[in-house]
Amino acid sequence: MRTDAFALRHIGPRENDLNHMFKTIGVENFDQLIYETIPDDIRLKNDLNLDAPMTEYEYSQHIHELGKKNKVYKSYIGLGYHPTIIPAVIQRNVFENPGWYTAYTPYQAEIAQGRLEAILNFQTTVIELTGMEIANASLLDEGTAAAEAMALLFDVRTRDQKKINTNKFFVSEEILPQTLSILQTRSTPLNIELVVGNHEDFDFSTDFFGAILQYPGKYGQVNDYAGFIAKASESDIKVAVAADILSLAKLTSPGEMGAAVVVGTTQRFGIPMGYGGPHAAYFATKEEYKRSMPGRIIGVSIDANGNRALRMALGTREQHIKREKATSNICTAQVLLAVMAGMYAVYHGPKGLRYIANKVHSSAVTLADALNKLGVYQTNSAFFDTISVKADAQKVKAIAEKNKVNFYYVDADTISISLNETTSIADINQIIAIFAEATGKDKVTVSNLSTSDNFVAGLERKSAFLMHDVFNNHHSESQLMRYIKKLERKDLSLNHSMISLGSCTMKLNAAAEMLPLSMANWNSIHPFAPIEQAEGYITMLKKLEQQLNVVTGFAGTTLQPNSGAQGEYAGLMAIRAYHLSRGDNHRNVCLIPSSAHGTNPASAAMAGMHIIVTKTMENGNIDVEDLRARAIEHAADLSCLMVTYPSTHGVFESAICEITKIIHDNGGLVYMDGANMNAQVGLTNPATIGADVCHLNLHKTFAIPHGGGGPGVGPICVNEKLVPFLPTNPIIPVGGNNAITAISSAPYGSALVCLISYGYITMLGAEGLKSSTEHAILNANYMKARLEEHYPVLYSGEMGRAAHEMILDCRSFKQNGIEVTDIAKRLMDYGFHAPTVSFPVAGTLMVEPTESEDLAELDRFCDAMISIRKEIDAASADDANNVLKNSPHTLAMLTSNDWNMPYTREQAAYPLDYIHENKFWPSVRRVDDAYGDRNLVCSCAPIEAYM
Ligand SMILES: *Cc1c(COP(=O)(O)O)cnc(C)c1O
Repeated sequence: MRTDAFALRHIGPRENDLNHMFKTIGVENFDQLIYETIPDDIRLKNDLNLDAPMTEYEYSQHIHELGKKNKVYKSYIGLGYHPTIIPAVIQRNVFENPGWYTAYTPYQAEIAQGRLEAILNFQTTVIELTGMEIANASLLDEGTAAAEAMALLFDVRTRDQKKINTNKFFVSEEILPQTLSILQTRSTPLNIELVVGNHEDFDFSTDFFGAILQYPGKYGQVNDYAGFIAKASESDIKVAVAADILSLAKLTSPGEMGAAVVVGTTQRFGIPMGYGGPHAAYFATKEEYKRSMPGRIIGVSIDANGNRALRMALGTREQHIKREKATSNICTAQVLLAVMAGMYAVYHGPKGLRYIANKVHSSAVTLADALNKLGVYQTNSAFFDTISVKADAQKVKAIAEKNKVNFYYVDADTISISLNETTSIADINQIIAIFAEATGKDKVTVSNLSTSDNFVAGLERKSAFLMHDVFNNHHSESQLMRYIKKLERKDLSLNHSMISLGSCTMKLNAAAEMLPLSMANWNSIHPFAPIEQAEGYITMLKKLEQQLNVVTGFAGTTLQPNSGAQGEYAGLMAIRAYHLSRGDNHRNVCLIPSSAHGTNPASAAMAGMHIIVTKTMENGNIDVEDLRARAIEHAADLSCLMVTYPSTHGVFESAICEITKIIHDNGGLVYMDGANMNAQVGLTNPATIGADVCHLNLHKTFAIPHGGGGPGVGPICVNEKLVPFLPTNPIIPVGGNNAITAISSAPYGSALVCLISYGYITMLGAEGLKSSTEHAILNANYMKARLEEHYPVLYSGEMGRAAHEMILDCRSFKQNGIEVTDIAKRLMDYGFHAPTVSFPVAGTLMVEPTESEDLAELDRFCDAMISIRKEIDAASADDANNVLKNSPHTLAMLTSNDWNMPYTREQAAYPLDYIHENKFWPSVRRVDDAYGDRNLVCSCAPIEAYM
């Protein structure tokens, strides 16, 4: 192999480590290891048919050239996406910083206080701007957040005797088109009847449980909804409002108007448009709905010393617990983007946000006045940033495009123009000139922004927001840079040590894959720009779809779903559409093995399916006879099976082909959860095992960083049967001939980060991908060989091999008073993030090293686990005062004058030598979850504290 091959950078173990690793495992070579791991009947006979790999340098040239095919026009399209200015200090210190982007969801709160605080800032920003009581840590995009609002209102209606049987939901015709499409998708399987209309004509009849309004409306109209919400409330109809977060710096908040839920996107808070995403959506509601709220909530609690400490709150609401009773399947969200949007609010503060909102509004007023002078009339009676004008759309479009300008053309004589933070006087004059040319009038030139903003009179925001210190003390670059660094230092990310989270695949997110995200011709394209302007994107996205088809063995791919769970939902909706297209309206039974990830049953419930849980055998495998019996019993109504492969237990079950055949023989289709695809790529694939559709987590197997809990991309790949049903978008037609309505807001979902996976596959090529999988399996089996005499390994394949991950059973340590959490917390003292705790089996750890970790790092982790095992043996159930129960140990604790633990400070902080080289200090002691759940606080100190 050439020494400049990317595979050598991506894969950890060196050639000369392999013999030692093989020997430890007890195999001769890769061939034997893979033979003993993957059933022979599903092994691929040929290499993947992909282009030869590029080196990092070749890829950077390639992506630069391809980027030139994207035409960056001035975008005034609006519809939920706006040009924005990413503060350079945030771009460099967060967006381009692996300390932030390689972190995982903050399950281990003690080593995640930095991003927890950053997300708390995001939640505070959302709560205060919307005027609501609580907010979550982000959702996927505005459209799906609106669908979650509908689902929440549908769920809580059952609390009200009068509403329990209602199923109508009113949708204002001012709603964004992509949001409407997603509401259609989500309402249908739940039998919610959508009624779309003008909110002024709504009759408030009592058979509605809820309504959603857009503020400002899709073409910019600003309405006062207080009257609507008051009248709705008389009929016990709860109202959600989708609101533009920037406009709320200037307009009365929906909360003050009485809204029950407020949703929207925070894209215009310094997040590039990126041809559709990723961006953080927000979701805010009232305290009384906290247990029905989708997604994660960061809350304030205390640590073992009673000091303030943050952690994820109310975990019991999540789909992992609720499973088929869940109303939302949100797992991965948009944490990195939420962190950035929160930092934007920190950097600008209340004064800065008000300044930006005023400037955007004044620009719109100035433009409207000038166009009025040309006889081009503006029709919104009130507006914030978007004006709707009457002119010949065709004429204007031709001239605008010649000038590299995009407007939104509503119909033949209506044009919507949405202004933004970047709009200058020169830009306004350019727009005026375009209209002057189109109408044959003399152009007028403006030289100042209008100072009048009487358009929003009566709705002017009066309430204060963001008075907390954090939003008022970081307005110089040094201050913000240091604040970001202060938070970053509290978090353990992949740039410190391996994060062996089973099922999550925390592999290298290579710099060469990440760099193009910062290039203007990739990150500044509006998702609804004419596709001729996005040739670079379309080329890249089509190529990625094709690469994923090759990897999975399938016929078609959609990149639209923006998380794995959204992919599950999309796949199940495609299956549903397939059965319906054949007149099989009754097929709605979904079989799910009991070991499945919580998102599986949650997604199936959202797709309106009837879930039957099938048994798992003692050895962890699917109980084939039980599955057969269920499939036959439900043959008339069978829709599908959801199966994870290799299993969530990290095993290639040899019965898989028999399992998929049973389902097909009984009229069902097979959905494969592709979270464990990292054990398959190049060696086997979903088509070969007999699946019909799978999702891939591009943020697991295909190198998109986890970002502290998002972004994610969850494409689904399907066989010929399901290609016609791949989802579309109402503005940019994509998907199959018989497409289902939208799954997420943008036609290609989070297109910007698809570049990462494209780079990953393009630089590895067939050989590198296969080698990655082999090394992932090698690393897992090496760790298994080193650890199994210290920790019982639950489940292995028939020849004793793990796939790419393994489960360590910690349940027997209870006799020494030690729980699996104690091990997770103690690992922090050793400089490691815990593996996955208690999934898929309670009381266990699931370890997944990935191919990117080298032998020395694997050994350090194994040494830490073995050392902890000795500490467990020394612990006693009668005395909780030991090094495990007291972990993690903070610097403050170790340097305090009082030390009366029954072990030394050195044992606490430096139990092994390697730690001296690279110590990581948890910033708080063990966090008390229950305390915070009893006293839910999910924002910085309340505003009253500062008045
Ligand atoms: C990660 C994961 C999912 C969910 O994916 P998200 O992107 O977090 O929505 C589903 N199934 C399994 C087995 C997973 O590991």
